[in-house]
Amino acid sequence: MYQAIVRRDATMEGVFFVAVKTTGIFCRPGCKAKTPKRENVEFFATSAEAIAAGYRACRRCHPLELSGTVPAWLENLLSRIETEPNRRWTNADLTSLGLSPSRVRRWFQEHYQMTFHAYLRTQRLGLAVERLRSGSDVTSTALDSGFESLSGFRESLRKWVGETPTNAKQTEPILTARILTPLGPMLAAGGDSGLCLLEFADRKMLAKQFQRISKLFAQPILIGSHRVLDQTDQQVQQYFAGERTSFDLPLRIDGTPFQTAVWTQLRAIPYGQTNSYQQLAKRLGKPTASRAVGRTNGDNRFAIVIPCHRVVRSDGHLCGYAGGLWRKKWLLNWERQNSPSERQHRLPLPVE
Ligand SMILES: [Zn+2]
Repeated sequence: MYQAIVRRDATMEGVFFVAVKTTGIFCRPGCKAKTPKRENVEFFATSAEAIAAGYRACRRCHPLELSGTVPAWLENLLSRIETEPNRRWTNADLTSLGLSPSRVRRWFQEHYQMTFHAYLRTQRLGLAVERLRSGSDVTSTALDSGFESLSGFRESLRKWVGETPTNAKQTEPILTARILTPLGPMLAAGGDSGLCLLEFADRKMLAKQFQRISKLFAQPILIGSHRVLDQTDQQVQQYFAGERTSFDLPLRIDGTPFQTAVWTQLRAIPYGQTNSYQQLAKRLGKPTASRAVGRTNGDNRFAIVIPCHRVVRSDGHLCGYAGGLWRKKWLLNWERQNSPSERQHRLPLPVE
């Protein structure tokens, strides 16, 4: 944990908090403030424990605003945006709500990797695409969605959604949402055709992940909710509560026949158990293909749901995991503890 602080590792967000004895302040692991000395820090699993031990929240990294959740000071603004999606927010509007415009801008940049105005635009475009798909004509859609001109609407649509209004009628957007877990936030993306991505949301990688799925499915990506995302959230929460050992979600696999075969085999590895790449290759009837199996394992877009974390090396070493080795280790230990069969006879832990 101390190494994570030294590296300002944002992927540890939400996993633990660090408190500094000399200042009486506690922080997120990724705080940009000066790195405290090892002997002056202590760690807490939750912010409540840090407060109970007498620490105050850092004013720089705001550890009470759990990464991925909406902080209390922003709640009012977000619900206003939802009820008045067409409104053009000026700095004066924000100030009249008691908000600092620069703090609002910083929050959107940090959480969505886009400016506040770009966020408002994706919200408006999301509504517009929805209207076009339900049969509205282009002109009234542009005006109803808060665009001042038809050409401005076409331009925004082309730039953000990559479509002209006529094509957008047939285009189903992919919606994305964040799912909070004890291992940090996850990013889920999906729509009417099912879930197409579930990965640990490393903030630095967020923009890349968006681009990757948008290109793969040739569909626009918008922030929003969808029943398949709600369903995913619910099942992920059950998994982390130890109440779920397999997932029942519509997945958009879209792989080559080989990839699809590997992912199907992966899903057959029972909860709480591990397989080696070699075992998987043998089961596929391609005993020499363990390298290709390893690669395909790494291409999995559905963390936890397609359990690529259950694949280890033949000698029991954990080896790589896109979400970070520490998460893989955590997941395997978690499943081992909660696995019904392992409660009777425990297997030794894999070698680190
Ligand atoms: Zn801090």
